[in-house]
Amino acid sequence: MIATYEPDGPIPVAVAGATGGVGQRFVSLLEAHPWFELVALAASEHSAGRPYGEVVRWSLPGPLPARAAGMEVLPAGPDIPGRLVFSALDAAVAGAIETELARGGKLVVSNAKSHRMDPAVPLLVPEVNPGHLALCERQDFGAGRIVTNPNCSTIALALALKPLCDAFGLRAVHVVTLQALSGAGLSGPTGFEMTDNVIPYIEGEEPKIETETLKVLGELGDDGLHAAELRLSATCNRVPVVDGHTLCVSVELGREADAADLIEAWSSFRSDPQHIGLPSAPARPTLYLAAPDAPQPRRHRDLERGMATVIGRLRRCPVLQWKFVALGHNTLRGAAGGSILAAELAVARGCLA
Ligand code: NAP
Repeated sequence: MIATYEPDGPIPVAVAGATGGVGQRFVSLLEAHPWFELVALAASEHSAGRPYGEVVRWSLPGPLPARAAGMEVLPAGPDIPGRLVFSALDAAVAGAIETELARGGKLVVSNAKSHRMDPAVPLLVPEVNPGHLALCERQDFGAGRIVTNPNCSTIALALALKPLCDAFGLRAVHVVTLQALSGAGLSGPTGFEMTDNVIPYIEGEEPKIETETLKVLGELGDDGLHAAELRLSATCNRVPVVDGHTLCVSVELGREADAADLIEAWSSFRSDPQHIGLPSAPARPTLYLAAPDAPQPRRHRDLERGMATVIGRLRRCPVLQWKFVALGHNTLRGAAGGSILAAELAVARGCLA
């Protein structure tokens, strides 16, 4: 039995990259967080020195939180206050800034790709590989720590695969993604490029899914992390959907199972975040919808507050063994919400300096 956890008092946190699409999700989710108190917002030199409400192009439904609107944006660098920094920085600058923040004693929880494949950095999907947090003991950032989130499609995929891995083993996975516009950030493809169109290319995305998923599903041994041994092929498309990545997945399992067994594996899956009672944990991290036309981004991405992988359309695959469709909210579970859940688990496991 895993004990529930509550911190002693509010933990001061900052968001670096606060003006971007993911940064805005952080600001919105942290407004009323029971553990974390938002004390600083940081972005590039273009935004620094001005009130957040003046520089941000607020693009979420609902108003910009008033307290955040009045906060002065700081330059993203080692002097950001707070014990924990959520990073939603552009990948081009995230690596060096996150290293400096960790060296300054912060717990950095990052969405950027820069540190994801570092062998001493957990690539955390809290329900899938909570034990990988032990990698933090191998880090060399002084008192600070870095924990990363996988890429948004990988998070949805790893959640869908983990219950199957545990119950039946997994030999091969083929995935085709239909990825939302918000996954490309605020400077992604224009309305003109995306209307009446699908773009069958997302730079760097296929190798990220193919490598990150194997790290997330890997085993931690005394000598470090061993990537999962399974064959995985990914094809990625950008589609005109605002939020929510759809994944068409085929799998070859380690042993025979019938459809009811797979559905039961997804429906009963619970892990450390649910047992500990973490505030951002969905009650059902993987849920199966029986309707023949589910899941759909507009109708199902917000189930479980956007923190679940929603699965449907399970049927036999004549090439591999089974095929299904999985849906994940890319800026909630796939970015800011997933990072906040990872931070809650890291805090509960004593990773804060
Ligand atoms: P975005 O909308 O382009 O936002 C980028 C943020 O980085 C902005 O706050 C920007 O500040 C800041 N920034 C840019 N250059 C900087 C510099 N030189 N110094 C300091 N700050 C700088 O991107 P996003 O979609 O929010 O993604 C943020 C990160 O999360 C990326 O690394 C991305 O790969 C990752 N990610 C995104 C998703 C998703 O679904 N969107 C999912 C998972 C992971 P200014 O406004 O001041 O320029």
